[in-house]
Amino acid sequence: MDNSENNLHWQHISGQSDSHVLPLSGNSTEKNNTVKMHPRTAHAFALLRQDATAEGINLTIVSGFRSFERQCAIWNAKARGQLAVVNDCDEEINMATLDEKQQAFAILRFSALPGTSRHHWGTDIDVYDRNAVSSEFVPALTHTESQRHFRHMHHWLDKQITQRKAHGFFRPYQHDDGGVAIEPWHLSWHPLAHYCEQHYDINALSTLIENTADFALKHTVLNNISEIAERFIVGHPLRTTAG
Ligand SMILES: [Zn+2]
Repeated sequence: MDNSENNLHWQHISGQSDSHVLPLSGNSTEKNNTVKMHPRTAHAFALLRQDATAEGINLTIVSGFRSFERQCAIWNAKARGQLAVVNDCDEEINMATLDEKQQAFAILRFSALPGTSRHHWGTDIDVYDRNAVSSEFVPALTHTESQRHFRHMHHWLDKQITQRKAHGFFRPYQHDDGGVAIEPWHLSWHPLAHYCEQHYDINALSTLIENTADFALKHTVLNNISEIAERFIVGHPLRTTAG
């Protein structure tokens, strides 16, 4: 592999193509769906996983690459009431009481706008410690769960990241500034993720959304795209806080 930026283009950054990711077999809770990630992320993850094993942690990926199409299905289901949208207290929001902009922003607190998910990049993963739970356990990725079962893993990750021993992984959703909620289980591999952040193209995103036939809240999203980018796209130049 050459040392340029690994042929990551807009098609990859926006989740429209998966030609930058490969299946990572043997480390997934998804029944029929192998976790996919960029080979360089996979290499770094193998090193992190090895270190975790020495601490008694079975660092396991719940979710890796996610396509634009998949993110769109989640977005549409939430906007149309087929999937619950929750508030910060894990309570379901009655979407019918909100206007369209409020609906969009309520979804964005916990779900990325299709085309902007860091999971498109092949650099980002959601993890849990399989040693801390039974084999039938299905992670829901909630704070309650993190505190109940995965304190050891999160404490260890805190330490590795602070001491720069996390092989390039960091937590992009670590601070709550009113944008995306805190997600301690979400790790990002900085060397490639930083490249994706730098090459993010809001105009191309608008065009992509405009041209997607089935996109819930389309006009509201397009009319508020700058504000959405500022608040919810980590690493976007308009954001004032570091991710
Ligand atoms: Zn995630």
